[in-house]
This record gives sequence, C-alpha cells and structure tokens, in this order.
Amino acid sequence: MSEPLLKVEGLKKYFPIQSGVVSRTIGHVKAVDDVSFEVNEGETLGIVGESGCGKSTTGRMLMRLLEPTEGTITFKGRKISELSNKEMRAMRRNIQMVFQDPYASLNPRHTIGKILEEPLIVHGIGNAAERKKKVSELLKIVGLSDFHAKRYPHQFSGGQRQRVGIARALMTNPELIIADEPVSALDVSVQAQVLNLMQDLQKELKLTYIFIAHDLGVVRHISNRVAVMYLGHIVEIADSESLYEEPLHPYTQALLTAVPVPDPDFKREQELIQGDIPSPSNPPSGCTFHTRCPFKMDICTKEVPAYFEAKKGHSVACHLFNEERNDINPIN
Ligand code: SF4
Repeated sequence: MSEPLLKVEGLKKYFPIQSGVVSRTIGHVKAVDDVSFEVNEGETLGIVGESGCGKSTTGRMLMRLLEPTEGTITFKGRKISELSNKEMRAMRRNIQMVFQDPYASLNPRHTIGKILEEPLIVHGIGNAAERKKKVSELLKIVGLSDFHAKRYPHQFSGGQRQRVGIARALMTNPELIIADEPVSALDVSVQAQVLNLMQDLQKELKLTYIFIAHDLGVVRHISNRVAVMYLGHIVEIADSESLYEEPLHPYTQALLTAVPVPDPDFKREQELIQGDIPSPSNPPSGCTFHTRCPFKMDICTKEVPAYFEAKKGHSVACHLFNEERNDINPIN
C-alpha cells in the first residue's frame, strides 16, 4: 500500500486562557486534543461535528494558518510542522483552502479577475498573459465565463461566489483542498450544484479533499471516509458506507438522526441528544460525551475510551466497544 498523501499524528491545539493585567495563563481551551488520521491520494475525508468540536481548527493547522501545540503533519513525506515560513509558503501551492463564507473571503474592492490572479502573483507563477489565460481557464472550469472576470464579488450570487472561491483555490494546481463548510452558507438547491461541481473537479483534476461539515447529510455522497469529531477528539472514523450503515458511537448515531429523511411517514426511533456541547476549556472527565450520552456507564466518567477497531478501517472510541466487552459489540 502506498504512503498516504497526508498523515496527521497526535495533533493538538490548546489556546491559552489569560486573565488579569499581566495576562496570566489560567487554563487552556483544548480545541483539538490528540487527533490522528490519514488521507489517501484522490479520496475525500469528511470531518464532521458540531461547532466548537475542533474540525475547523484542525483544517487551519493543516495549512499552518494556526500553529499546532503538538503533533506532526506529514504531506507527501515532508513534515509540514517542521518547514520554515518560506518552505511553507511554497508548500501552500499544493494545499489550498475553500472557506465557508465566500463573500467574506473575497476582497470586495477587487474584480474577480484580480482575485483569481493573486495566488499566481504571490507564488511567482507565469507572466501577465499566462496569468490572464489561467484565470479564463479556471472561470470556465467552475462554470463561469470570461466576462465575470471584470465583475466584483457583490455582483454574484452565493453559489457563484463559492464557484469563484473554488476557482481561486485551484489556481496554483494544488493536490489537496481543505474545504471548510463550503456549502453551509448556501441555499439547499445551490448546495447540490456546488457539491456536484466539486465531485467533477475531483475526478478531472485528481484532487484530494478534506471536507469539513457540521452535518453528516452533506458529506455523505462526497466522502470516501468520514471522521466524527466531538470536543477536540475523533470519536469514530470509518469508510462512508460502514459509518452510515452501522454507526457505532452514540454521538454519530445522534448526528445521523438529525439528518433529514425525505419521507413524511418516517418515525424516528431515537431522540436527538439533549443539552449543549460542554466548554472545551473544561471538558468532562473520562469520555467527554458522557454528559449527553444516553448509554453512559460508570466507567465513562472515569476512563478515556481507547480506539477499538470494530472492523477493518472502522474505529470507535467508546466503552461500549472494546476487546473485553466485545460481547456487546453490535457490529459482529
Ligand atoms: Fe457513551 Fe460511555 Fe460510549 Fe462515552 S464511552 S459514548 S459515555 S457509552
């Protein structure tokens, strides 16, 4: 088996909480706490969880827009975490990001042509004529036209702006795209168009995606594998089919019950989880999901659950599943 394109090991991001006039550190917000995963070339890994679970912080660390507190990120065999700023700038040609709010991420005073040309200028790619040609090429690839280059972001619809966001991410011919909630701000009808576009581009340009979302429904059709995050941890990771057919972690099951079903007669068997996500500055002991879990046991408040590989490629961190308790493992 060939090396994964991206390998993340023991990734942590702790933000200090400061107080007083001398800014004394009185604690930490553990936004990402010991996260490990791999992404293979050409696949899409979905990362899903409620807001505050650490999924976007993870995405930003992969591009070193945020420095990790601990852990290693290896892209094509090179440790990103050890690159100098100059080396990292060069590496960013290969790893690009698509943001949730295309309007906020596009400079309102610049034309679309200028916005798209900018990454080429930053990376010193091509002369003016070549850059113009590339802008025209990318506009067409994302379903826009040459005349759009002269327009400004406010003249576009939400869906068109996200097309521009995708085109900008593709300008430097990256291999990995980190898409952080790329369709969350769009109308449902437009979401499907943007998702289809991203899938077509993936096939044509042999792209690898990390697709961050708060809703398991959105990532279902685009992801080969899905990682579910809760309070800074990955609680379950599996290939899509296995995760949607046999979700093991109670949190994954709860997220799946929140996915709308297009059937008016459909009755849910299970209640959605109750309560809010606890503060990552003071996470619950043991399994951090125990304050909301309907299956909580004594051990859950005391011990952090280890990962259990229920079947090849499907791992879960929950005391309901482990080597000793495999009598209650419902996946067998
Ligand atoms: Fe629920 Fe316990 Fe599993 Fe956590 S470890 S998800 S509290 S059953």
